[in-house]
Amino acid sequence: MKVAQEVFWRSKALEEMSAQEWESLCDGCALCCLHKVEDEDTSEVFYTTAVCHLLDLDNCRCTEYENRCTLVPSCVKLRPEDVAEFHWLPRTCAYRLVYEGKDLPEWHPLISGRAESVREAHASVQDWYEVRDNEITDEDLIDYVILDDREVGKS
Ligand code: SF4
Ligand code: SF4
Repeated sequence: MKVAQEVFWRSKALEEMSAQEWESLCDGCALCCLHKVEDEDTSEVFYTTAVCHLLDLDNCRCTEYENRCTLVPSCVKLRPEDVAEFHWLPRTCAYRLVYEGKDLPEWHPLISGRAESVREAHASVQDWYEVRDNEITDEDLIDYVILDDREVGKS
């Protein structure tokens, strides 16, 4: 009897994935392109509804992906060796889910087979952003903090 092969995101740890598997794990939600603010006293991270100006909001793709970390110093390039830092990622982020030993949601493109399923499930940044960061000042950012952010960053 033929045994179905286990999918890589259940059978491998993040550090064991190939570069192609690692890239495909990203669901394209772009929630990580929302700005975050950190409480200096508690180190707690809060998401805001202000999104990076380099994001194409129609398809949730970075318009400067190759140069993103140079153009936007606060843009974080996720690396397998940094998995322990992944607690600040959105609750639905595939990297965080795998790191926490959880399965991917049905709308993840690796399961649905369609990139659009993320936006159709209202799991993308399209359902959260209010402004682009170049439309407000740094001081204004605090006004866009999501206080009830269970759906974005909190467990
Ligand atoms: S939050 Fe995670 S899954 Fe979504 S775009 Fe960012 S890295 Fe990819
Ligand atoms: S530079 Fe690109 S990947 Fe980084 S936060 Fe901005 S839109 Fe997102």
